[in-house]
Amino acid sequence: MPGRVVVAGGGIAGVACARALVAAGVQVEVRDRGRVVGGRMASRWIDGRIVDSGASYLTASSPEFQAVVEDWALRGVARAWTTRFHAYDPAGGLTEAPPGPVRYSSARGIRSLVADLVARGGVRVRQQSPVTTVAPGPTVDGERADFVVLAMPDPQAIRHLGPGFAAAREAVAGRAYAPTLALLAGWPRRSWPTIDGVFVNDDPTLGWVCDDGRRRGDDAPVLVAHSTPAFAAGRLTDPGAAAAELTAAVRRVLGIADEPAWTYVQRWSFAKPVAARDEPFWLSDDGLGLAGDGWGRSKVETAWRSGDGLGRAIAARLA
Ligand SMILES: Cc1cc2nc3c(=O)[nH]c(=O)nc-3n(C[C@H](O)[C@H](O)[C@H](O)COP(=O)(O)OP(=O)(O)OC[C@H]3O[C@@H](n4cnc5c(N)ncnc54)[C@H](O)[C@@H]3O)c2cc1C
Repeated sequence: MPGRVVVAGGGIAGVACARALVAAGVQVEVRDRGRVVGGRMASRWIDGRIVDSGASYLTASSPEFQAVVEDWALRGVARAWTTRFHAYDPAGGLTEAPPGPVRYSSARGIRSLVADLVARGGVRVRQQSPVTTVAPGPTVDGERADFVVLAMPDPQAIRHLGPGFAAAREAVAGRAYAPTLALLAGWPRRSWPTIDGVFVNDDPTLGWVCDDGRRRGDDAPVLVAHSTPAFAAGRLTDPGAAAAELTAAVRRVLGIADEPAWTYVQRWSFAKPVAARDEPFWLSDDGLGLAGDGWGRSKVETAWRSGDGLGRAIAARLA
């Protein structure tokens, strides 16, 4: 099948889109501005070990994504982590929450799931290749393509859309994303109650804490905590300066007496869209596609479905 598609964004949405196109025989290149694929499904080496610093886990409710996750699980790429989380509130302390769906993680870090889609799908990715301008044609940074896809948060996508894309600009303009600071912290030993993850309620600083050692399956004494959007909002220019406050909040919630051996704070300026959308992606007659977790209800599965659906729709137009 002829056709050349450029996908900007190597998160799970962009990679799923490219994978669907490759499967249909379409020539496609993913350009990502980062050093590695994964986007917000991020894993980082710290203290000789991988720590998940973005998405905490994934769930699968649609048959299409369940098939992807089952394939990962069968090959040992993903692992069924837990159905049980805790909740914390200042009055009641730590209590077990009712069981929920299976949450999946990965022993090699959640980013490895996206890397696996790239490798198994035969997807070509150009790293450290930021897309600057998408113009009618469509062209991407002056080069003609049959379709151009922006698979990234709406506030990032709009930066690259020229005035010739009035309708698409209108679709993404003003879409708010909540920020988060992620504290990654390692202790010399475990000294907290046995938990997988804790939803922290009514706290000005923290929204969520999880045990990265239990999540990854190596039992390393490492916790990852996500701040509330309000806490992050005023601290995005110097995230490292928030480490002490975030650490104190984690120690308070889990009753940890010891100081951590190390901490690191990761900034997510566009962690999650504030509002959901009904449409699964954008595809217009002028050759522009938009996908990502902003199209639906923000989570990993939504982003995958958005990208996969867009890829299939473009392939159908090129057939
Ligand atoms: C702290 C945090 C916790 C989360 N927890 C969960 C969870 O527990 N469960 C869950 O299901 N979801 C969770 N999410 C949401 C989940 O991570 C996202 O829904 C999903 O990863 C979004 O994928 P995406 O491909 O749409 O976007 P992204 O992952 O953001 O990918 C966008 C990509 O575009 C690239 N890019 C940006 N600009 C350009 C450019 N100009 N040129 C080229 N490339 C560019 C970026 O480098 C990035 O790789 C969480 C997110 C965060 C931040």
